[in-house]
Amino acid sequence: MGRLWERTLAELQLVVPRQEFTAWISCLRTAGDADETLTVEAPSAFHRSWVQRHFLERIRTTVTSVAGHPVPVVLAVGAHAAVEPGGRASEDALAPTSPAPIRIRAPKPGEGHREPTFANFVVGACNRLAHAAARAVAAAPGRRYNPLCIYGGVGLGKTHLIHAIAGDLRTRFRGARVLAIGAELFVNEMVSAVRRQQMETFHHRFRRIDTLLVDDVQFIAGKERTQEEFLHTFNLLCAAGKQIVVSSDKPPRDISNLEAGLRSRFEGGLMTEVTPPDVATRRLILEHKAAEAGLTLPPDVAAYLAERIRAASVRELEGAITRIGAIASLTGRTVDRALAEEVVVPLRASQQLHGAADRIESVVAAALGLDVRTLRSPRRDAPVVLARQLAMYLLRKVSGLSFALIGERYGRDHTTVLHAVRVVSARRDRDPEVGRLVSALEEKL
Ligand code: ADP
Ligand code: MG
Repeated sequence: MGRLWERTLAELQLVVPRQEFTAWISCLRTAGDADETLTVEAPSAFHRSWVQRHFLERIRTTVTSVAGHPVPVVLAVGAHAAVEPGGRASEDALAPTSPAPIRIRAPKPGEGHREPTFANFVVGACNRLAHAAARAVAAAPGRRYNPLCIYGGVGLGKTHLIHAIAGDLRTRFRGARVLAIGAELFVNEMVSAVRRQQMETFHHRFRRIDTLLVDDVQFIAGKERTQEEFLHTFNLLCAAGKQIVVSSDKPPRDISNLEAGLRSRFEGGLMTEVTPPDVATRRLILEHKAAEAGLTLPPDVAAYLAERIRAASVRELEGAITRIGAIASLTGRTVDRALAEEVVVPLRASQQLHGAADRIESVVAAALGLDVRTLRSPRRDAPVVLARQLAMYLLRKVSGLSFALIGERYGRDHTTVLHAVRVVSARRDRDPEVGRLVSALEEKL
């Protein structure tokens, strides 16, 4: 069970934002365990209820996918949990109604999480321009490249660069008002300012900034009032010679429902793309991340990993290093090719899943006359639900992958997949039309 939890932690680290992971998850511990239940202990009652509300579902699905079968998870308050310095776990446990002040445990040196800076950003062909532009902006904000727009897929370093610029500016220009904010938070703050009729304060706050960095700006598309507000702020700041940086998961022209004024603003600045790393950059990143984690990666292992993990995201490379580090430290094994192979196998399962799923989804969508994208959308109308259930059923039959892994593809848990498989099997036997459809689909695959 201890290993199961360690491996779960390694997975969670990949999906939970850094600060939240450090604050809430890294100090959870397993107590010696009974039967098939995983008991996880939090240092205080307050901590426990927070984790329960915000992370329990995610912990459950992760445990299940790591174990390969459902494992009940129980959250407890306990003495095993790492207590924050100065925290008093047992007293908190006795007084569940009076939440303890939240103390964030400072990470120990070498304990994974470091601030994203320019120094720990690995430069390669995939991000050279974006990096150079980011450095130029940090050196002379509001001069050239205003606004700077960094776009590209998930996990390619956009947020990292945003924070690197912000951090650099704060040290370089003491007293400068630098705000790095996710677009989602910008939206939420605005909505709540509107609700509380505090737009004045909101305006004031955003318009006295020297450098405004907005991450994942695609998020404001389609939200009319927010876009208007943002454009207004944008224009005022630009006119005052202030620097603006935005990141987006796609080029502005491809963001649907992005207000034309904003689009042309973004396009009027410098647009740089970050793309997935090539094999040479993957190797550099792996070596860099290993060094940060205090791991020695022999050259053949680095080369093997860089070749095998054809990651579309730097996060997967980080994940491989985290897993290698966890296995090495838990088992005392040396980091060698054999260990690296063990780490790459689960990644292959996920690549296999997505490869098979792409194929199956397009066949199913074509047969039912649906747009393939609706299968992975939250839509719940009958034809879409049926299509999704068919895809899950076929995916399970064709790939034999676990329910949990298949569920992840659709943002649902293993019970949904299990249900889908049962429903389709039953309908296939009962309803000749569905029977013919499923057979025809199987034919095609
Ligand atoms: P994005 O915002 O583009 O989705 P992030 O900036 O969150 O991606 O990057 C995902 C993870 O990969 C982060 O932990 C980040 O520090 C790391 N990362 C991305 N690119 C690099 C790089 N070039 N060098 C070092 N770490 C990187
Ligand atoms: Mg990001």
